[in-house]
Amino acid sequence: MAVSGIGPYDPQNVFARILRGELPCNKVYEDEYALAFHDIAPKAPVHVLIIPKGAYVSFADFSRNASEAEIAGFTRAVGTVSRQLDLEARGYRLLSNVGEEAGQEVPHFHVHLFGGRALGALLP
Ligand code: IMP
Repeated sequence: MAVSGIGPYDPQNVFARILRGELPCNKVYEDEYALAFHDIAPKAPVHVLIIPKGAYVSFADFSRNASEAEIAGFTRAVGTVSRQLDLEARGYRLLSNVGEEAGQEVPHFHVHLFGGRALGALLP
């Protein structure tokens, strides 16, 4: 079911539990600002989720309330993951669902990173 993109933040959401180590994930990358792991239901050969370590419900929350260091650190982490997965030469797609009409399911800000095939004009 889709969630609100403006909160309040639910500390029991699945990505918060992954960040706390209460649930497993197939980790791709981690640093001070971000964690990246494979999506459990991939929609492309590469489908990775990149999440900030801070408690933000969505991009709307993150862009308004995160510090400059968190925003910079997270953005750099997204680029690092794309390079680590060797996607730069062929290209890739970033997507973030915000709130109900976008169909956001997990109320912790995340960026989907898709790649590994021609993605076409429509969303995967
Ligand atoms: P959203 O619709 O943008 O919120 O996307 C949520 C994504 O999280 C979906 O693509 C799900 O497949 C993915 N997902 C949900 N639970 C897990 C999990 O435990 N591990 C990895 N991915 C998950």
